[in-house]
Amino acid sequence: MKIEADLLVENASELVTLNPSPPATDPEGKLGVIPNGTLAAKDGRIVWAGPSGETSKQVSLLPQGKELDATGKVVLPGFIDSHTHLIFAGTREKEFELRLQGASYQEISAKGGGIKSTVEKTRRASKEDLVQIGRKNLDSMLSLGTTTVEAKTGYGLSTKDEIKMLEALRDLGREHPVEVVPTFLGAHEIPPEYAGKTEDYVRLVIEEMIPAVAGKKLALFCDVFCEKGVFSLNQSRRILEAGKRFGLTPKLHADELTPLGGAELAAEVGAVSADHLLYISEKGMEAMAEKGVVATLLPGTAFFLFLGRYAPARRMISKGVTVALASDFNPGSCMTESLPLITTIACTQMRMTPAEAILGITLHAAKALGREKEIGSLGTGKQADLVILDIPDYRHLSYHFGVNHAWKVVKKGRVVWEAASSHSTIRVDPR
Ligand SMILES: [Zn+2]
Repeated sequence: MKIEADLLVENASELVTLNPSPPATDPEGKLGVIPNGTLAAKDGRIVWAGPSGETSKQVSLLPQGKELDATGKVVLPGFIDSHTHLIFAGTREKEFELRLQGASYQEISAKGGGIKSTVEKTRRASKEDLVQIGRKNLDSMLSLGTTTVEAKTGYGLSTKDEIKMLEALRDLGREHPVEVVPTFLGAHEIPPEYAGKTEDYVRLVIEEMIPAVAGKKLALFCDVFCEKGVFSLNQSRRILEAGKRFGLTPKLHADELTPLGGAELAAEVGAVSADHLLYISEKGMEAMAEKGVVATLLPGTAFFLFLGRYAPARRMISKGVTVALASDFNPGSCMTESLPLITTIACTQMRMTPAEAILGITLHAAKALGREKEIGSLGTGKQADLVILDIPDYRHLSYHFGVNHAWKVVKKGRVVWEAASSHSTIRVDPR
């Protein structure tokens, strides 16, 4: 009996499954590349992946099925962006220019910039406005190969506005092909009306926001910006523990600008990931490796803020920490939707290999969302989320940077995005 399929992606130069058999330990082996590979799916699930020569023996395409010829191309799992601030009102390009001229955070803030300006505009926006903004951002991400996005709140900072953001994320997830995984980040910043009263705000988050968010089942994760001058280790711990009591899995913005011990806290509370980690300690790395906390590194942010420092990715990998990569897409510190660009920065600035970078935006990113049984690899039974790239070798994803290689993007077995003709339609007159 042949396996029935309604989608065949055939003859890929490299079918990068992230599902090697037998299992591998080195990054390149972990990619599970099948040269000249074909993948079959039915009803949105992968039913077969193997060498193209075996396809006709193994698989029969249903009459209404779709065939995609991926000759000369690379097929990867759809990219997973496991840390974004997807929806926000207004942008901060003037602040970018001021920073380039040497303005400090305080000077920018005094000129009306900084996160507070985003909070003000997001509070004024309606839920419908935010859905419209989010739709545009998701379209852009999808065009670059991203099929699942984690999205944080944190620009509302009041119960009403945080719920509004979460409802906008819920509505976006229902209408857009990209899957949206919502994270409550009420503890992103201290809102202006609570200036000097951080403890009061922490109580609001714990006693009012978390129960409201959980009661409406609007988020899966609870995140905190644990940083000097924002939320302390102790406050972060209390917020994350409160989230846990309401069924929200912890995540943490940790050790980004100062060494606070955020990585250790993430391990202590059983966080699924700790993110940023520029100042992670040796102990923090060991604790994360031991507890299986994923390190989500956001090198685009270090690059865009020209911090002159990156997270010690090589050290973490050598200690057995699972490293994911994400965009941190947000209007202040990393205005890009491009995960391929993030892989290039990860390779050149943190010396990750192209294979490690691909792991970071697929399987490891799925782990950072607790979704590795469903997405992030191309094994039988997994969701058929794919990106087909017009490149001859997977290394080109990081190596050939600043352009979009996506040819087609497939979500749950359906082509949801495709590149326009790759040829210029205007030719110089040969005469
Ligand atoms: Zn962030």
